[in-house]
Formats: sequence, structure tokens, C-alpha cells
Amino acid sequence: RQWVMTAYAEEGLPTPEHVTLITTKVAVDAASIPEGHAAVQVLWISIDPYLRSGMLGRMDGLCFPPFPIGKVITTLGVGRIIRSKDASYCEGDIVLHTSVPVADYCIAPATMLRKIDMGTRISPLDYLTAFGLPGFAAWIAIHLIGNPKPGENVFISAAAGAVGMLAGQLAKLKGCRVVGSTGTDEKVNLLKEEFKFDDAFNYKKEADFDAALSKYLPSGIDIYVDNVGGKMLEAVLNHVNKKARIPLCGMISQYNQVWTERDGVRNLLNMIGKEVRMEGFIITSYLQQFQDFEQEIGEYLNEGKLVSKVKIVEGIEGFLESLLSLFSSSNVGKVILQVNK
Ligand code: NDP
Repeated sequence: RQWVMTAYAEEGLPTPEHVTLITTKVAVDAASIPEGHAAVQVLWISIDPYLRSGMLGRMDGLCFPPFPIGKVITTLGVGRIIRSKDASYCEGDIVLHTSVPVADYCIAPATMLRKIDMGTRISPLDYLTAFGLPGFAAWIAIHLIGNPKPGENVFISAAAGAVGMLAGQLAKLKGCRVVGSTGTDEKVNLLKEEFKFDDAFNYKKEADFDAALSKYLPSGIDIYVDNVGGKMLEAVLNHVNKKARIPLCGMISQYNQVWTERDGVRNLLNMIGKEVRMEGFIITSYLQQFQDFEQEIGEYLNEGKLVSKVKIVEGIEGFLESLLSLFSSSNVGKVILQVNK
């Protein structure tokens, strides 16, 4: 079984009209596998907001190319080698696949695989959370762009999601005061109790963002990790301190809007007098720093200093549902689709 792109969704949320689960044959016998390739049983698939961009049918602000119509959707995932024609991999190896199809099985070029060492504290799921894409995005936002100093005030939106929960913990490890916003009271409690944020609020209940930011960040904002854009970004610009940094990680509140109806952002004027630096980034532009990231995050993971919450959706048929959960507040932490056990 595999999920294929059947029609592009220009606005609103994707539906079964846009992505379809089909059944097809994948030959995994030794004769059918090309040299330098391996047959992989897919275990876990990373469910990320950028998949929505691939379903637009054109290159958008995130610069993510469209998934071709009629072809299987691909993303990051973890699988188990079931047969290999590459000397680096053996049957039973657990691997990270950097372009895994949302499918039960696949044939993968060895160049797209990376063996996961099962003898360490870093688990396969860490490769999709703290030690993978969301962790890298959080590390770039906090460490490279935010460059926090102890005692600074850090605000994070979509804070209980994959990137947000890690960005907040990294800022805490740097000695900052960290506040997050999220969409349910359950997630507000999670931020404070499990991820040790100093404070958090439910942006759906405290919908006057200016008032909420005055209340929870009375000393202003030195770093804002923006995951949502729109009205929250606009409000933050009224609360920035001198020389504040705003890493623009994502703008999920805008992803389902046609571009002519996207929010404009007022209050940009404040950036001049306050000398604010706002910087968008894409993780693939920072690959030369990936080893530094792995070193630092690996140490935190080994010392038990970083925790991740994962929401597992079981069964490949749950792909669309798991993707849609990113656009409501029904997900907690990192969303992962479990295809096989
Ligand atoms: P999350 O796990 O945070 O899931 C998305 C969350 O966004 C939801 O749980 C929801 O949480 C919140 N949300 C959804 N719709 C809205 C809305 N209209 N307004 C406000 N909040 C909303 O996803 P990720 O951590 O994977 O990604 C977070 C952001 O980072 C995304 O914008 C993504 O595109 C971006 N990203 C960027 C990367 C880069 O290279 N620049 C790499 C990876 C991610 P809530 O309950 O809080 O509403």
C-alpha cells in the first residue's frame, strides 16, 4: 500500500480527493533489487507541516517542490532492512531513510539510508524528533539565529509541537526564561510540567495576543521563535526588546490560505527603532552544521536533558488523518505514522 498524490489542494485542507491509498506490487526478491539498493520495510514516517506545501501544486514561500501527480508521497522515515544488495547494510538493520515513500515497503538506494546504532541511548524515534528534523530546526532557531544569553526572555508559538517543545527546552538549557503559546489547556500544562517552560498560555482562550504577551512576558521579548506567523507575529512586534531576534521557522496559520488572502503583518515599524533582526531559514541550508548539532543534541540526549513527546498514529491508512492533526490542536508533540511494527 502507498499514498499517492492525486490532485493538488490550492486552498483549505487536503482531503481524500487529493491523496489516495493504493495497492501496488513491490518486488523484494534478490533478483529484483538493483545493486547498491536495499528492500526496506517502513516502520515510522515523520509527519510534518511542509508536506502541505508539496500538495499545493506550485512552489510556495517554503520553496518545497510539488509532489508529482500519480506518484507516491515521500518524506523522512525509519525502516528495517529486509534484503540488501549493498555491503553496508544487512537484513534486520534499522535505518533512517531521507526520502521514504509513505508506503509499507520500498526499494531504497543505499545513499539515502543511514544505519541507526541500536546500542546507544538515542532511539530510532529520536532520529525523527530531537536528533532529527524538528531538533535541527529548533537548534538553528535557538542556537544559531537566536544566540541566547542567560536571563533573556524567549517566546515560542506552537510551543507544544515538534519544533516548539525542543526549542523551549534548548532555550531553558541556555538559562533563558521561556514562555510558550499553544491551543489547548492540556498542552499548556504539558509545557509547564513536562518541558519545564516558565509559563505558557492557550492562545485560543487568551485571544487578545497583545494583552497575553504583556501578562506573560512583562519584561518584553528578546527571542521569538515563530512557528505560526499571522496575528501572533504582528502582536509580538509590539513587545520586542532592543536587539531582539526573530527566527522565522514556519507560519502554519497561513499554509491553507490562498496567497492573496494571507495575513499582512503590521507593527514592522517597531523593528527599526528596536533594531530587531528577523531571519527566515530552511534546515537544508545548514547541513554543514549538522555534525555540531548532532554533537550537542547527542550529549543532551545521553544526559537525559531533552525529552520529546510523540503522538503515534497507527496504520498506514491514518496518513491523511495524521497530517490534518497538525492543522488543528489535536496533536501533541511530534506526530509519527507507524506503518509496521
Ligand atoms: P507542530 O508539531 O508544531 O504542529 C503544528 C502545530 O501548529 C499544531 O499542533 C497547532 O498547535 C499549531 N497550529 C496549527 N494551525 C495553527 C494556526 N492556524 N494558528 C496557530 N497555531 C496553529 O509542527 P512542527 O513542529 O513540525 O512545525 C512547526 C513549524 O515549523 C511549522 O510552521 C513548520 O512548517 C515549521 N518548520 C520549519 C522548518 C524549517 O526548516 N524552517 C523545519 C521544520 C518545521 P496548537 O495546539 O498550538 O494550535
